Amino acid sequence: MKTIGLLAGMTWLSSLEYYRLLNEGVKARLGGLHSAKIVMVSVDFAEVEVMQIEGRWDDATRFMIDAARQIERGGADGLVIATNTMHLMADDVQAAIGIPLLHIVDAAAGAIKTQGIEAVGLLGTRFTMEQAFYRDRLVQRHGLTVLTPDAAGRETVHRIIYDELGKGIVREESRQAYRRIIADLVGAGAGGIILGCTEIGLLVRPEDSPVPVFDTTPLHAQAAVDWALA
Ligand code: GLU
Repeated sequence: MKTIGLLAGMTWLSSLEYYRLLNEGVKARLGGLHSAKIVMVSVDFAEVEVMQIEGRWDDATRFMIDAARQIERGGADGLVIATNTMHLMADDVQAAIGIPLLHIVDAAAGAIKTQGIEAVGLLGTRFTMEQAFYRDRLVQRHGLTVLTPDAAGRETVHRIIYDELGKGIVREESRQAYRRIIADLVGAGAGGIILGCTEIGLLVRPEDSPVPVFDTTPLHAQAAVDWALA
């Protein structure tokens, strides 16, 4: 079994899910007392959020490279960045380390294509919904069509992630807001919905959407387990 490098803490609430899913995934495949081999570095998300808000993406890239190198030095065979947003600098991180980065978009796209879905709605932070790094990979590498909420919808989705989910607050009112935004995306032609932020699965369940949801947290964790055991 290969050792998974987990770059965690963005936020720690979703990293808990990764940790559980990685171990459950290995146990499901190998049985008995088996569990995942993991080297984890967990960062202080408040430091990351300040760089995001101030648009200091060069600093954020250096921060992510430092953490990834720490993980590599710790003996990991591959890197899992446990957040969608901070895949913004995935190419730079990959170029700075000698182990493979298991990209979250590829994990999601694989599951979407398996179901024959061509147009997907994307929910995530405003960075993920509005900057090119995420959409371009879905479109160019995987041939998918990507729909995002309107400006007001994007603001709502983003605000609930940072003000509530990242702090462990789960509100029914916010679930209803997400349900309305998902319904709009489906009305616009989305055949599936990417939960493209690792905390959204704490709020939105499959039954909140009339079309399949693709939760990046379990999909990414499963891809890492498959890789570790291949
Ligand atoms: N966990 C979130 C994501 O998947 C947001 C936190 C972050 O900005 O890294 O994008």
